[in-house]
Amino acid sequence: MATGWESLLRDEQQLEELARQAVDRALAEGVLLRTSQEPSSSDVVSYAPFTLFPSLVPSALLEQAYAVQMDFNMLVDAVSQDAAFLEQTLSSTIKRDNFTARLFDIHKQVLKEGIAQTVFLGLNRSDYMFQRNADGSAALKQIEINTISASFGGLASRTPAVHRHVLNVLSKTQEAAKILSNNPSKGLALGITKAWELYGSANALVLLIAQEKERNIFDQRAIENELLARNIHVIRRRFEDVSEKASLDQDRRLFMDGQEVAVVYFRDGYMPSQYSPQNWEARLLLERSRAVKCPDIATQLAGTKKVQQELSRMGVLEMLLPGQPETVARLHATFAGLYSLDMGEEGDQAIAEALAAPSQFVLKPQREGGGNNLYGEEMVQALERLKDSEERASYILMEKIEPEPFGNCLLRPGSPVRVVQCISELGIFGVYVRQGKTLVMNKHVGHLLRTKAIEHADGGVAAGVAVLDNPYPV
Ligand code: ADP
Ligand code: MG
Repeated sequence: MATGWESLLRDEQQLEELARQAVDRALAEGVLLRTSQEPSSSDVVSYAPFTLFPSLVPSALLEQAYAVQMDFNMLVDAVSQDAAFLEQTLSSTIKRDNFTARLFDIHKQVLKEGIAQTVFLGLNRSDYMFQRNADGSAALKQIEINTISASFGGLASRTPAVHRHVLNVLSKTQEAAKILSNNPSKGLALGITKAWELYGSANALVLLIAQEKERNIFDQRAIENELLARNIHVIRRRFEDVSEKASLDQDRRLFMDGQEVAVVYFRDGYMPSQYSPQNWEARLLLERSRAVKCPDIATQLAGTKKVQQELSRMGVLEMLLPGQPETVARLHATFAGLYSLDMGEEGDQAIAEALAAPSQFVLKPQREGGGNNLYGEEMVQALERLKDSEERASYILMEKIEPEPFGNCLLRPGSPVRVVQCISELGIFGVYVRQGKTLVMNKHVGHLLRTKAIEHADGGVAAGVAVLDNPYPV
């Protein structure tokens, strides 16, 4: 894929001036993060890193990603309701992965008691890279689906103005007009609104679970603001606050500081380090409640890498989505090679293949948040160590996607402006709401393009590796 901006990238002086303009516009638009020095305060903030130019994305792949999003929503929802599938799929993993096991314990506990929740809300983001084919074309391949705390829907609505600005400064007004408008935070808020309405208590609140040290607060605020504009009040609380001040009544209605909660929206709780014993108790209390959890624990489990791998097995999609061959075909077309490492012949063979061609594989544990996967020599060492141990079942192997690199400038506070070779990852935000067995909302609500330098194998924006971008459709 050509950059599209080759001649511009050669003019260093112009790049510096454009970068100054872009940064000021980003700050003015609210493309913001708190600083790593002061993550609990908004007194001093900085711009969220972003690319100087929008990156070229084939329109056909953008359309394909949008077109398959409602299918992914249905799939995640189907998995979350299939306790037998979840149990079978995760049985080997939970023996060796303590975090997944803790989540699974809560899932079992809630099932045993009986689920009080009747309205279900999914806010997810399905991420893709553009695999370079032998003939030079590109194919859309899913990296993962995020079913908890899928972020950057707020900031992604503010970056189109920045890239339009850059192109307008260059008098490229036609090009500027091609940058798609995007407002995921509004769509995500509409999902929360629908769930709140169906919960059916006019005075109930939305409880946003977040940490105090949260650099990405402006992204979350964008959703809070959309809700407040619809007269829905949001309170931000930590897990610690929940364990101190939340309670259930005899109908398992959730109360926080004495106020009823209709929807619990998690922007925390997806990594082991986020859970103290007290936080696990708080999570269990929330799960047991009647409030709409976004996500409920089963939906969080549906987003594990192990589930993703099992979904790619022949016949599984057909079983989960019976009588929907077109949906199944659309989903399958986006799957990369995914391999189980469970003990046995199949896992042995996958390991042998990865050891024979390490550059073509990624080793993934059951983790979220970036920086956990293993590549190259590190992957080889881990596989050699894990090969004969049951611990290997807590990982999956995945085909490594190799997009065509292109040049762009990654703008970061304190870093010089320079052109680097990059690759992008496209995310599509999906929203669905189910009441009992009836799906009452199923849609896509926008996109996120993140771009990183090719020397980084892993990591997203929050991990300090990727930066915000916009697709420039070609
Ligand atoms: P996390 O849950 O930590 O975000 P991901 O599966 O999204 O885990 O992996 C993190 C990053 O690693 C991705 O954003 C992408 O840059 C890179 N990555 C993951 N899987 C692949 C793959 N199969 N091929 C190439 N890069 C990958
Ligand atoms: Mg990811």
